Amino acid sequence: MPKVSVIAIDGPAGSGKSALAERLAKQLGYVFFDTGVVYRTVTWVGLQRGTDLADEEAMTSLAKAIKISVLRPTKDDGRQYTVMADDEDVTWQIFLPEVDRNVSAVSAYPEVRRALLAQQQAIARQGQVVMVGRDIGTVVAPDADLKIYLDASAEVRAQRRLLQSQSRGIEASYEKILADLKRRDKIDSEREAAPLKMADDATPINTDNVTIDQEVDLVRGMIRQREG
Ligand code: C5P
Repeated sequence: MPKVSVIAIDGPAGSGKSALAERLAKQLGYVFFDTGVVYRTVTWVGLQRGTDLADEEAMTSLAKAIKISVLRPTKDDGRQYTVMADDEDVTWQIFLPEVDRNVSAVSAYPEVRRALLAQQQAIARQGQVVMVGRDIGTVVAPDADLKIYLDASAEVRAQRRLLQSQSRGIEASYEKILADLKRRDKIDSEREAAPLKMADDATPINTDNVTIDQEVDLVRGMIRQREG
């Protein structure tokens, strides 16, 4: 097992976590696990079934009942991975704007988080993984070998999300995305349970004026240093 086996990348929406993690995982031959997907899946299934998202108990039961799997891409349609909720392929649906609007409220429920934690920790224990989220360095994998905290201005992040939505064929407006990002950041960082927060031993990187290649180089340098 390499010394730097578990890499935790946290930060607000649109800070570039997935882009960085995907490249690192590919170069290192590690698994890329985007933990936002599990909260998005519970939110999407709740919306679809007409569950009252404001009902914490109902959402917790849902989180306990559905089996979420993240698999290698099962279709060649531009996806990075396939997400299954039981037997249903929800890979694209979980990034719809209605999920963006509701996911932070659902992920703020402590019991929902608890129900989804064990699976995330099991993946961390397997090692050779790049994990992305809000609480990876603080809660899911506090012993991660390398912790990065990515950040960028809200405007830069909104612009990135706009391009991402467009590339997924989802219609979106910059203003709406910006407002949604700000609202989500506020809920994610102010919630009681596992709020978005930089771990004390994380390295912050501001990505406003840094290209993705520079970011990858920077992190690869940190890994080399730790591998000694
Ligand atoms: O990263 P992404 O934008 O896909 O995450 C969607 C939402 O899931 C976040 O806004 C946050 O509310 C929640 N989330 C979380 N903890 C994580 C990952 C995501 O609460 N580790």
